[in-house]
Amino acid sequence: MRFDGKRYRDCRFCRGRGCLYCESEANAEYKRQFPDGPKPIATFDMTTPEGIEAARKAIGREAIEKAFGPGGGGIAEFITNIAKPVQP
Ligand SMILES: [Zn+2]
Repeated sequence: MRFDGKRYRDCRFCRGRGCLYCESEANAEYKRQFPDGPKPIATFDMTTPEGIEAARKAIGREAIEKAFGPGGGGIAEFITNIAKPVQP
């Protein structure tokens, strides 16, 4: 995190030394980078059988146990699972 609660590294007023404007500068930069706000890591349409099946495959108990169990890929496998396209 570039803003640590007191100082913002790229603050144009103090160059990261810490000033009254750091927080608003950090917020403004965040809005420039993420104009729509934080995005969910995955969405599933739970109103369709396909969506439910996709969710089950990605975040169901079996998928979690496989990813985090012996020989699983851990968080990397989990991310790969949820990154798979859900809708055609
Ligand atoms: Zn500052």
